[in-house]
Amino acid sequence: MNLRIPGPTPLPPEVIAAVGQQMINHRGPEFEAMFGEVTAWLKVFFETENDVCILTSSGTGGMEAAIANTLSPGDKVLSVTMGSFGDRFAEIAEAYGTAVTRLAIPMGRAADPAQVAAAIREQGPFAAVLLTQNETSTAVTNDVEALARAIREAGGEEVLILVDAISGLGAIRLQADAWDVDVVVTGSQKAWMAPPGLAMVSVSPRAWRAYERSRMPKFYFDLGDALKYARRNQTPATPNVAALYGLHRSLQDMVVAGPEALAERHRRIGAYCRQGLLDMGLSLFADPAHYSNTVTAANLPEGRSAAKVLSDLRTGYGIICAASKVPGLEVIRIGHMGYVSEADLDEVFGALREILGL
Ligand SMILES: *Cc1c(COP(=O)(O)O)cnc(C)c1O
Repeated sequence: MNLRIPGPTPLPPEVIAAVGQQMINHRGPEFEAMFGEVTAWLKVFFETENDVCILTSSGTGGMEAAIANTLSPGDKVLSVTMGSFGDRFAEIAEAYGTAVTRLAIPMGRAADPAQVAAAIREQGPFAAVLLTQNETSTAVTNDVEALARAIREAGGEEVLILVDAISGLGAIRLQADAWDVDVVVTGSQKAWMAPPGLAMVSVSPRAWRAYERSRMPKFYFDLGDALKYARRNQTPATPNVAALYGLHRSLQDMVVAGPEALAERHRRIGAYCRQGLLDMGLSLFADPAHYSNTVTAANLPEGRSAAKVLSDLRTGYGIICAASKVPGLEVIRIGHMGYVSEADLDEVFGALREILGL
């Protein structure tokens, strides 16, 4: 089977072997050694000296933690949304009782820093701005560095920048410290080549100050609690030990390569995927200036149904691609983050040519 969805992504064989190991005591020395290494290695990819907390949940739990730990009911929040995951971040903030202003970017496009700055000047001040690094639903990557600079200039020294980097980090660089972003969230089943079940969250000193003021209810996702335990390489409750085995094994190789080599690898595989689709005459959904290097969205030719193409790929070729969430358009998405080769994509191109008669 060729699993080409944007998460969960395929596991390399050595990660599968690691995940299959016997359980250990999560309060014992073997666990503490592993947890300490995973935390240190994650900081290499968050490009931060901030605290990194590892939560047992999917990525959405990390997004919820970002909101619940830094904000209070009634706080004004600017949510920059370019698709369904941006909408999810806004919905979480609303569920927790913040006053959310949505800056909705047309689907397929990236956020414009000048437009975000203008929204802050005209409708602010805001306690926090919510960003998506890589909008998986539309295959668009934001320029987080430029956005963060614009937000800081317009919003001031205390505005919190909370970033959903779930489908980007590990494959698309994000320099938490150099770009001065406050909370960055990612998930184990995306570019990390590990099973689902872990959310990893970095927290800046500014975000910890906000945590002290925060009046949101929190318990399982209390980051202060997570940090207290993380200081002795433990977690408040039983963690996802099997996913940690997998993440530990994949990070072992990832840190040897480093963030720039992995980003370059994803630039190449992203370009390869786009070129293969363009070569067969398909057009791409996203704005070419902001193509994602972890997922690609292709428009199907007039009259073709995405549901039918996806089912033909699955039943005829064992290839699993993803549907689009863009209303009214027949678009399919191909994931290419983590454990993926050009040969994996060649298989998709060959099958699509046959199915579409191209
Ligand atoms: C996958 C994804 C999520 C949701 O993560 P879950 O692990 O399914 O909770 C959120 N944001 C983005 C950008 C994603 O790609």
